[in-house]
Amino acid sequence: MKYLIILFGAPGCGKGHLSNKLITCLEKKLSQQDIQYLSTGDLIRDEIKKESQIGVCIKQFVQSGELVPDYVVDKLIANALTTSNQTLGILDGYPRTEKQLDFLGHLLTGKNVSVLTVFRDTPEDVIKERVSKRRVCAQCKKTHSVEDGCCPHCGGQSVIRKDDAVIDKRLEEYRKNTLPLWNKIDNIGATLRLDGTTEADDAAQQISDILYP
Ligand code: ADP
Repeated sequence: MKYLIILFGAPGCGKGHLSNKLITCLEKKLSQQDIQYLSTGDLIRDEIKKESQIGVCIKQFVQSGELVPDYVVDKLIANALTTSNQTLGILDGYPRTEKQLDFLGHLLTGKNVSVLTVFRDTPEDVIKERVSKRRVCAQCKKTHSVEDGCCPHCGGQSVIRKDDAVIDKRLEEYRKNTLPLWNKIDNIGATLRLDGTTEADDAAQQISDILYP
């Protein structure tokens, strides 16, 4: 891997949406197979859905808005990153604790990967408003807005993501464990702070221009 982009920010700040836009932008420079998108939230939800041993143990943390223990998430990331042969990686939702940051630093040591951490800095009132409108499709699991009525992708039923009902707890975890990392994350590479209320398209273009001027 040559480049690693870390998307940093509060729950509901739009990291997933920005990732999609970024992948679209980067596909003008790289082929789809050269990009590895890794979301710890998705990896965790997969384990829960599969009802794997790990999935069964961590379900309660996710549903109550708490962070999953570091050793579980570190293992998921280590497995995915060490088997990766893509040019560019996008990490969505990792690291979220100091231990995870140390673990990632360790994984990257000697690998010659250029890291760019992008902070989507978004006020909590904007986040709460967005999350209150966020729905997932019961069928295809894609995210959409309550204003769409049913799922715009497959017509499936719209449901509230279970952990969106505990957004206050998730924001508390973010303030306590994740936000303080912003002052340390420059240990592993460059950083870019973006206003999270601006259009995701513009943010994606800005990141793409930095990597491929
Ligand atoms: P959001 O960014 O909106 O919180 P995610 O889909 O990234 O949504 O995460 C959903 C949940 O998965 C989190 O609330 C947490 O329980 C768990 N999770 C995701 N990433 C991590 C991580 N790096 N460390 C610990 N728990 C995590």
